[in-house]
Amino acid sequence: AKADGRHTYRFYTATLNQQLLEQFQVEQALRLAIERQELVLYYQPRVNIATGAILSLEALVRWNHPEWGLVQPGRFIPIAEATGLILQIGPLVLRQACEQIKLWRAEGVPVVPVAVNLSANELYQDNLAQRIQTIVHDTGVTPADLEFEVTESAAMHSIEKAVMILSALREQGFSLSLDDFGTGYASLSYLNRLPVQALKIDRSFLAEINSAEDALTQSVTIVKAIIGLGANLGLHIIAEGVETKEQRDFLINHHCFVAQGYLFAKPLPVDVITPLLRTGNVL
Ligand code: C2E
Ligand code: CA
Ligand code: CA
Ligand code: CA
Repeated sequence: AKADGRHTYRFYTATLNQQLLEQFQVEQALRLAIERQELVLYYQPRVNIATGAILSLEALVRWNHPEWGLVQPGRFIPIAEATGLILQIGPLVLRQACEQIKLWRAEGVPVVPVAVNLSANELYQDNLAQRIQTIVHDTGVTPADLEFEVTESAAMHSIEKAVMILSALREQGFSLSLDDFGTGYASLSYLNRLPVQALKIDRSFLAEINSAEDALTQSVTIVKAIIGLGANLGLHIIAEGVETKEQRDFLINHHCFVAQGYLFAKPLPVDVITPLLRTGNVL
């Protein structure tokens, strides 16, 4: 048993070292990526479920690495958050989204609002509202062109501060939504105080809705409760991660009409999303 223990221990350190090494390599490469402007935005439509009309877009960052190819955010955003690099990446993402909106407008493409994700580190950074204002002003877009998404858990982390910061953004005219809703335990009294206009149902709940037989699962109950909450509090509801017709039908039956998911469109690069915006529809 002792030998086993040692074995386990050595195995553990090897794995940990490897993880730290990989994290360190990614961090170094990410610093270069920021300089070399390798971060690019993809855009995923949020659509009217019934008509397929594109209502808005979510900007999602990817890393176009010269050797590794297109790196998904799950591989580098957590490292960027842990190392503080997110405080450099966030403004780059926002600026790129604003420049793109400006370009679309100049090309006569019908523009819809673009939602940008804010990490917890960014949310609680000093002068966030002012930093955002500067970028918006520099690029010549208007607050109505933009939305910000913060996760429910980021908002709940320091709720009093979050209320203040989000109120400042709201006063500037930005729309706000609570991301990954249902996973962060916001209490109802706080939810009422957060100046958000929309709740995004976390896609883990949608993933469990697959057929009429699932009608009694906990996820069904939660999704129904969130839709009801939205109706009662006057908040828009966006269902995330809609992949199947069954999920779509479930949402329609329960009066949720806005969704984002692979069933309608994946996150798409500019050259693919632009023609879609011209038609205004994904169907
Ligand atoms: P998120 O903000 O919850 O974004 C939604 C994620 O769900 C995206 O993953 C999107 O591609 C994925 N998704 C959408 N529809 C479906 C579907 O039908 N099925 C499945 N399986 N997935 C779907 P992505 O682009 O890999 O981003 C992952 C996370 O990385 C984001 O989760 C967000 O937390 C973070 N992230 C991405 N871009 C940014 C950014 O610019 N800034 C910050 N701070 N975080 C970002
Ligand atoms: Ca999001
Ligand atoms: Ca989400
Ligand atoms: Ca998420």
